[in-house]
Amino acid sequence: MITKMFTVGTLFTNCYVVGCIETKEALIIDPGFETDLEAETVLKEIDQRKLRVRYIVNTHGHLDHTAGNGIMKKLTSAPILIHEYDAPMLTDSAKNLSMLFGLRTTSLPPADRMLQDGDVVQVGDVALRVLHTPGHSRGGISLLGAEAVFTGDTLFAGSIGRTDLPGSSYEEIMLSLKKLVTLPDHMRVYPGHGPTSTIREEKRRNPFLQNLST
Ligand SMILES: [Zn+2]
Ligand SMILES: [Zn+2]
Repeated sequence: MITKMFTVGTLFTNCYVVGCIETKEALIIDPGFETDLEAETVLKEIDQRKLRVRYIVNTHGHLDHTAGNGIMKKLTSAPILIHEYDAPMLTDSAKNLSMLFGLRTTSLPPADRMLQDGDVVQVGDVALRVLHTPGHSRGGISLLGAEAVFTGDTLFAGSIGRTDLPGSSYEEIMLSLKKLVTLPDHMRVYPGHGPTSTIREEKRRNPFLQNLST
């Protein structure tokens, strides 16, 4: 699996390009671009590696993760995938919190496919299973691969996503984190913001996971 991380936008969102080494098929997770230059930088990497983008996947509907959906879809013709509960955020600027985040209100293309817990998004040999991990938003998902999990704004290195936003729930995020701590220790965590980690490291030092892992 090829995994390349780009940090984009004023909220330093992590956008990931995930590809299959064999088939060169790839997907983009959370293209939260605010400028064309950011989109071009990611696209340059995709071209250099001769990848073909099959899917654009949003871990959730907040604009800092979805702002570049339109330009990415235009440039790659790939469909946009998002959990069914967050899909309405793409076309509703009040719901995607553009105002709250102080981001430019953009109208985004609608979802092409709605995801549910247990769905698998596959590019070549790389299969990412959809884990519904609500709490930061109702339709938040984590994408679970063989060695890595992309956790969006559910789990960060040393912290967790905000639960004071519309559609957030502290109780729900705790249940979602409970699911994540059962993953194998060695699994690498690729969060929606900040540095990467592992499940082992988070169980050790993330204060929000302390009473969950047993
Ligand atoms: Zn968010
Ligand atoms: Zn975010």
